[in-house]
Amino acid sequence: MREQLRICHLYPDLLNLYGDRGNLQALLRRAVLRGIDCRIEPVTIGEHFDPDRYDLIFLGGGQDAEQNILREDFVSLKGEAVKYAVEADKVFLCICGGYQMMGTEYIEHDGTHLECLGAINVRTVGKKIRYIGDTVYETELVPDKPLLYGFENHSGRTYLGDGVKPLAKVVSGAGNNGEDQTEGAIYRNVYCTYSHGSFLPKNPQMTDFLLQRALEVQKGAPVTLDYLDTIDEDFARETIQTCKKT
Ligand code: GLN
Repeated sequence: MREQLRICHLYPDLLNLYGDRGNLQALLRRAVLRGIDCRIEPVTIGEHFDPDRYDLIFLGGGQDAEQNILREDFVSLKGEAVKYAVEADKVFLCICGGYQMMGTEYIEHDGTHLECLGAINVRTVGKKIRYIGDTVYETELVPDKPLLYGFENHSGRTYLGDGVKPLAKVVSGAGNNGEDQTEGAIYRNVYCTYSHGSFLPKNPQMTDFLLQRALEVQKGAPVTLDYLDTIDEDFARETIQTCKKT
């Protein structure tokens, strides 16, 4: 029987800055090319989120305004189900604003205090000066391809609390807060990053890591993905980098 993988795209109409839906296209492509029957289902404001239905949950980035629109729904209506999924070791990929909303609080640069979900122990403080630019981070998740490439644009400075590890170390860019050289966060199987770009199409090793983890949680056993080259992704990334140098 064909492998099945079901992905939930939370708030696709609101959290989708800088082409974040490209992350889903990357997951879909590298799953389908391996013969995995991968389905992506959108769930937005007012719609039921069933955590047992999905192997991977995706939250993209958003401006403060969009985060304010969905906050009530995310925290009050979907919050318990999302926290249940986190503690059940479901795999999450959370980008920038989606990352921030999974934390305990977001204090906007004008001092407005936003209660966030509290699913992971991080907090964010917004500042007037935004971090904008290309990024390079170094992760231990994929030893043979440790460098992750992205683009960041955020006013939030995120600080990791007890029980949360960084996704990577900053090589260039600001990362979580421009102070402690950390980037992103890992809690159980929740993987968070400030990398837009979008993130996964430029970092196929992370795409495969997330696919593998999601299948392992689904099966409750180790999984080895079939080999799949990264020629197209490497060519795209190198082309972007070359264009930026000209
Ligand atoms: N609104 C948040 C911030 O400015 C997140 C931005 C984003 O998702 N790019 O920090």
